[in-house]
Amino acid sequence: MLRFILHYGIHFIVPIAIGLLFFKKELQLKIIAILLSGILIDIDHIFANPIFDPNRCSIGFHILHSYWAITAYIILLFFDKTRIIGLALIIHIIADITDCWLM
Ligand SMILES: [Zn+2]
Repeated sequence: MLRFILHYGIHFIVPIAIGLLFFKKELQLKIIAILLSGILIDIDHIFANPIFDPNRCSIGFHILHSYWAITAYIILLFFDKTRIIGLALIIHIIADITDCWLM
């Protein structure tokens, strides 16, 4: 149960918290929307069989959760234009890593 709360807490609450705490009012909604869309990389699960397995660690297993992909997400953080997208993806990876640790 703790694992479930932490995993989805990071997926949904962290993006909202970052948007509210670190960005100006007029940017908040946009930033939160982008950060929440980080969840979309779970689309790579459709290539896995079974699609969802609570006892499988996504990190290093799915294409968009591979170490190469994670390296690319970190690189995105270094450029102004892609920083928020990179941050969204890193938050997603952190949520999944936490999930793997608690497995
Ligand atoms: Zn994931």
